[in-house]
Amino acid sequence: MMALAAHRRHIEMPDLSPVLARRVTILGSTGSIGVSTLDVIDHARECYGANALPVEALTAQSNVSVLAAQARKFKPKMAVIGDEKLYHELKANLSGTGVEVAAGRAAVIAAAARPSDIVMVAIMGAAALEPALAAVARGATVALANKECIVAAGMVFHRALAASKAAVIPVDSEHNAIFQVFRAADVDEVDRVTLTASGGPFRDWTLDRMRVATPEQAVAHPNWSMGAKISVDSATLMNKGLELIEAHFLFALPPEKLGVVVHPQSIVHCLVAYADGSTLAHLSAPDMRTPIAHALAWPRRISSPSRKLDLPQVGQLTFQAPDYERFRCLALALDCMRRGGLAPTILNAANEIAVQAFLNRQIGFLDIPSVVETTLDESPGANVEAQSLEGVLAADARARELAGSVCRRMAAK
Ligand code: NAD
Ligand code: MG
Repeated sequence: MMALAAHRRHIEMPDLSPVLARRVTILGSTGSIGVSTLDVIDHARECYGANALPVEALTAQSNVSVLAAQARKFKPKMAVIGDEKLYHELKANLSGTGVEVAAGRAAVIAAAARPSDIVMVAIMGAAALEPALAAVARGATVALANKECIVAAGMVFHRALAASKAAVIPVDSEHNAIFQVFRAADVDEVDRVTLTASGGPFRDWTLDRMRVATPEQAVAHPNWSMGAKISVDSATLMNKGLELIEAHFLFALPPEKLGVVVHPQSIVHCLVAYADGSTLAHLSAPDMRTPIAHALAWPRRISSPSRKLDLPQVGQLTFQAPDYERFRCLALALDCMRRGGLAPTILNAANEIAVQAFLNRQIGFLDIPSVVETTLDESPGANVEAQSLEGVLAADARARELAGSVCRRMAAK
């Protein structure tokens, strides 16, 4: 009885004040994840008081008007615009607010190094790598939405993390789910970790239809509202491939313990099968504000404005094996995970270039895996491991250049 009473008291009067006092920096605040993060903070302020989750810094690449509106509302100490040409516009927009203004790539990296408790890394692409490493180096808690930086830098990122006091809380929904049902220390007791994939908008399309798919069709994801690049990655299933590599590095899971299952409803986010035959799953409505709130409050829980799970309304949960022939990007990513070395770095860089070329209507949808495969085939030294950040950045730059020329070759056909 005594123990039960104490337990109840604990539940009734949770002291969330240390969690709510955390200072948050958001890198990429104007994107889909950035806006959702501010939504979670806004909701926390409504629930717990206006001082909840103070904002240290906000950064964006080019959207001055949204960044300025966010800065006016959330009153960070600093707002940074990546594109230097936009410095004066942001400065004028924030005059009289007391918000410090800066611009340029170095300023984005410096924002990550400012003394906040949590850095939400919501920049798109491998451009997040150096800002993320700046947050890691100073021992921040890094809420990591971006997956490309781990795929690109693999062991270099891993070693930087091991050498610092930083903690990474994964925000990508599947990895956040794995983080919730599996302790890294239990890796030997785990038989298999399965990531779920919605299958994207072309799940049931024939190759003939996919060949002429437009950017508008590719970004119209059935379950999630996301930035353009990750939406295309979800349509090619490269997103799931990048996520397998992300899970491989984040949780030190060998490739043979990782798998993918297509689950169109996006309710189950991961399945962890243990040696004794138990399988633990994580379920939630498909709403990124759930993993974001989890990452901001970890190891506690705060209220979030996300849609809540209503299983009778969902009705059915279905699962099917992925089709590696229609979704070649997934097969390429699996292969790169097994090869290791610089293969994931090259895969990611080539994919970023190919997706942009597709969004610019220079190449077709099915050219994306072809560009990635050709770039991998034509890259010397893909199996060599980069020992330093400079090595990763050089391989990334070389692969981008090569992928650009492959795209031009394909566009000319
Ligand atoms: P987005 O395109 O909507 O937003 C990207 C943000 O990064 C913007 O604020 C933009 O200004 C900034 N940015 C872009 N290029 C930059 C650069 N070179 N330097 C500095 N800042 C730059 O993207 P998103 O959908 O929010 O995704 C962000 C990251 O989170 C991606 O890595 C994505 O894979 C990952 N992620 C997103 C979702 C989602 O639901 N959107 C889910 C899981 C993981
Ligand atoms: Mg995901």
